[in-house]
Amino acid sequence: MDCPSCGTHGISLVELEENLCGFKCSSCEGIWVKGFQYWKWLKAHGGILPENPADFAADVPLLDSRQAKICIECGHVMLRNKVGHEIPFYLDRCSVCGGIWFDKSEWETLKSRNLHDEIHLIFTAAWQKDNHKKEVELSYEKSVAEAIGEDEYDRLKSFASWLKKHPQKNLLIGYILQ
Ligand SMILES: [Zn+2]
Ligand SMILES: [Zn+2]
Repeated sequence: MDCPSCGTHGISLVELEENLCGFKCSSCEGIWVKGFQYWKWLKAHGGILPENPADFAADVPLLDSRQAKICIECGHVMLRNKVGHEIPFYLDRCSVCGGIWFDKSEWETLKSRNLHDEIHLIFTAAWQKDNHKKEVELSYEKSVAEAIGEDEYDRLKSFASWLKKHPQKNLLIGYILQ
């Protein structure tokens, strides 16, 4: 098998985890995991581990290859989806055979956040919809902060969170609007 990212001939078998084998490219250091092996590993791994916050992310150099890739198992064009959850790269997965390509250090980064057992979910519409919703929220928050300045924005945020939790919040909002 040739590397789907850099084309290097012959990628070699590695043990990624207990019960999980992959194929590593000696040149770009990317890793190919066959679909059925991921599922087999996931089954042995048990339930999905709770996600670690962003500051748990492994501090490793990333190489997110941008080009479209062809599945080395079945020849289909692979899907490329954004991981989200403050992870800066995209993942490539074949929607036909389920094979996954990890660029250098991507597996390590996902594992440090406990997202390595949710790769199949990253490729669902629900995950991507949630990513989009969070991006919209973040950019709205950013534009408000820019409009009124960071200090004022911090005051606004703590006021808003106090208001949201207040048992009489509708009364208070009515008062403000008046
Ligand atoms: Zn390669
Ligand atoms: Zn495939």
